[in-house]
Amino acid sequence: MASSSPDSVSAAPPSVAASVAASVAIIGAGLAGLTLATRLTEAGLAVTVFDKGRAPAGRMSTRRGEAGGYDHGAQYFTARDPDFQRQVDAWVARGLAAEWTARFGTLERGVLTPKADNPVRYVGVPGMNALARDLATHLDVRAGVRVERVQREPGAWRLTSERGEDLGRFARVAVAVPAPQALPLLAEAPALAARVAGVGMEPCWAVMARFAEPLPLAVDGAFVHGAPLSWAARDSAKPGRAPGERWVLHATPEFSRAHLEDTPETVAPLLVEAWRQAAGVEVAPVEAVAHRWRYAQAESALSEGALFDAGLGLGVCGDWCAGSRVEGAWRSGLALARAFLASSGVDPK
Ligand SMILES: Cc1cc2nc3c(=O)[nH]c(=O)nc-3n(C[C@H](O)[C@H](O)[C@H](O)COP(=O)(O)OP(=O)(O)OC[C@H]3O[C@@H](n4cnc5c(N)ncnc54)[C@H](O)[C@@H]3O)c2cc1C
Repeated sequence: MASSSPDSVSAAPPSVAASVAASVAIIGAGLAGLTLATRLTEAGLAVTVFDKGRAPAGRMSTRRGEAGGYDHGAQYFTARDPDFQRQVDAWVARGLAAEWTARFGTLERGVLTPKADNPVRYVGVPGMNALARDLATHLDVRAGVRVERVQREPGAWRLTSERGEDLGRFARVAVAVPAPQALPLLAEAPALAARVAGVGMEPCWAVMARFAEPLPLAVDGAFVHGAPLSWAARDSAKPGRAPGERWVLHATPEFSRAHLEDTPETVAPLLVEAWRQAAGVEVAPVEAVAHRWRYAQAESALSEGALFDAGLGLGVCGDWCAGSRVEGAWRSGLALARAFLASSGVDPK
């Protein structure tokens, strides 16, 4: 039998009450949840992040294909806020992100109009998920866990998974998921739920298509008009990607709504055909796989930054709280971190 060291004998074990008091559960390991988790961890709080996906990143995921990956959600991001620009510069300096300098334009029924007024666009390297993966390495992230219930108990919140598993008691909880998915988790916070209920989100069908040969198109990122598609990108033309010819096609919200419950096998050929007509060239992919994003982007995002009830110790963040998009997700996670820390008496800086 191992004998106790003098340290372990003399140190009082932390009481369960004390460990609950410093604990925070974050539901959602997209950029918002991970940014929040990082700040709270840096401030000394005990943070556990739960995500239903197999890996963190949420809508900034990269799907691995047979011959290279696809950014099937967020395509690129821009930086308008100087603080976010500093964060992006730090990612670029570490090789986790890079500027995407490519040929952008609009495409309508085979007519390509190059875009001249291009903002600086960034992507994760070697895939969009690189940023989330990096953040997650420093955090306690439990993937593959869908949180179903957030229940108030005296002095704490109890979380339960969809499999009925008790996920533990936490002093505070942050819900960092798309608005419609946040609603059922806010059953015990009706005032927050009422704000969240007003935010609708549009679906988006995405197609990942691989070709044997480069498509004869003088564009790498196209805003598509007059078609069931809104965007098409030569994903393999982004920096740091595996060689090959891989495209990501995004359907319009109208098409995506109309085909919401269709199967991926039905949707993929419809969008490949839409791409053929929009591009005005023959397109015959070696593989074409569709993915549905049920909650892709907010119809009209809030501009609060984050929602927080200090009395309950419950907060909500996500891109849809801060103008949508990647930059909004980052800003929202940070806004909720500031609110949590200020309410704990920690200088949020
Ligand atoms: C098709 C598409 C294209 C886009 N294009 C762009 C673009 O070009 N530029 C741009 O800036 N933005 C774009 N966006 C938006 C961008 O992806 C988002 O703004 C950003 O990734 C949102 O981050 P988030 O952390 O707020 O949410 P998410 O990334 O959605 O993270 C939420 C996480 O919560 C998890 N989750 C949900 N419910 C539960 C639960 N009950 N229990 C446990 N986990 C749960 C999910 O699995 C997910 O990982 C696009 C999005 C899509 C879908």
